[in-house]
Amino acid sequence: MYEQKRITDVGIDMDGVVYPFMSAFKKYCEDVLEMTDLPEPTHWDFYDDWGMNKKEFDALLNSAPVTHRLFASESPMRNVYGGWEMLRNMGVKLHVITARPTTAWAQTAEWLHDHDLVPDHLHFTNDKTILAHTAKEHSAMIDDHHLYYQQLEKAGVFAVLHDHPWNNQFEVSYRVNSLVDFAKLVNKVNNREIPWHPTNANKYSLMQPI
Ligand SMILES: [Mg+2]
Repeated sequence: MYEQKRITDVGIDMDGVVYPFMSAFKKYCEDVLEMTDLPEPTHWDFYDDWGMNKKEFDALLNSAPVTHRLFASESPMRNVYGGWEMLRNMGVKLHVITARPTTAWAQTAEWLHDHDLVPDHLHFTNDKTILAHTAKEHSAMIDDHHLYYQQLEKAGVFAVLHDHPWNNQFEVSYRVNSLVDFAKLVNKVNNREIPWHPTNANKYSLMQPI
């Protein structure tokens, strides 16, 4: 047993953590755009392999929520309900933090409500480190983007990467397969079973994903 901070607030990313965006987007490309033989994503810029550039991908991200409810057409990912319940039982505050485009904001809130996954706070931002300020040295977050993971770690948040083929080339301290495993890690920190010291809290420098 040793002294360390307790986690009071957890950040939960939407896509790739709670919502199976990749599956929804692939169906959209196949059914609506009639694209065929799309390979499974193996890196963050997977759309390169699907014959799209970033500009085209971003344009679809903005239009497909409006035309086809891209961010509300699938069910929650495996073990989301179990992990959500465990976190609720721990008494930590739940913050859903997502960088989804404005065209998806309303359907994100509706989808969370319709699936009984109502968080304490819902944040739309590209800066996933906000809990480093509002729950300084008392926060954890799970995301599937390695760049966000790095920013969180630097900001002094207990950062956890959700494992996927598009991020498994990166070495990280904490990697899990589901929200249940994330909840177990948070519980271990709060039970002093995992040493965690947010020592980088003051070293954070603003760094946005490109
Ligand atoms: Mg994500």
